[in-house]
Amino acid sequence: MKKLTKTQKNKIRRVIVLVSAALIVALTVFFIIIKLFSVYYKQGTAMNEISKTDYSEYDVDKPEITEMFLTENINSRPGKKLSKVNGVVVHYTANPGTDAEANRNYFESRKDMPDNNKNKVSSHFVIGLDGTIIQCIPLDEIAYASNDRNADTISIECCHPDKSGKFNEATYDSLIHLIAWLCKKYEFNRDRIIRHYDVSGKLCPLYYVEHEDKWEKLKRDAWKCFLNSKKTV
Ligand SMILES: [Zn+2]
Repeated sequence: MKKLTKTQKNKIRRVIVLVSAALIVALTVFFIIIKLFSVYYKQGTAMNEISKTDYSEYDVDKPEITEMFLTENINSRPGKKLSKVNGVVVHYTANPGTDAEANRNYFESRKDMPDNNKNKVSSHFVIGLDGTIIQCIPLDEIAYASNDRNADTISIECCHPDKSGKFNEATYDSLIHLIAWLCKKYEFNRDRIIRHYDVSGKLCPLYYVEHEDKWEKLKRDAWKCFLNSKKTV
């Protein structure tokens, strides 16, 4: 065989390098496409799962709710009708150690205050440190809790023992149950469970804004509670 000249050898080496580089690029693009496709496919499947939910197959027990409706007043219970309900908004009271009734009474006390935005504060539900659920406003009326979403959401204020804003177990369990019940009642999927933070950017509920993973877990737990209520035929 004819011996290759140095130039020919270099040429061959360059061709090998170029072909290898092209191969690497092609493989990378191929894997990116595969990855994107699988993510898209998974999302599609998840969406299908949600849209396929037949809510008549589920039956979440109504949690124990103590009705202590506020007196109708311009500040905390305006008596305006909720036209439709598109979501559930979770809040924290930002008042460590206070209980459900104290927070409910704070909303009630706004009735004697001047008619201004600062006094327009309330919530459909307040969940206490022992898990007690107090309802302050009927579900067909609006509450003043979630800024732009007051008109189409149900609000839940949660008490918390300390400044971190983390809910204790009793509050957490009642919250999960209440959300699951609302998911069934309004035929919501878990995407309809949002934080005050998701509406206005306010750091509420603080702990679940600072710990995104805990918020995701909370939503998962609520959805699991809903799914666990599947009727056995
Ligand atoms: Zn809030």
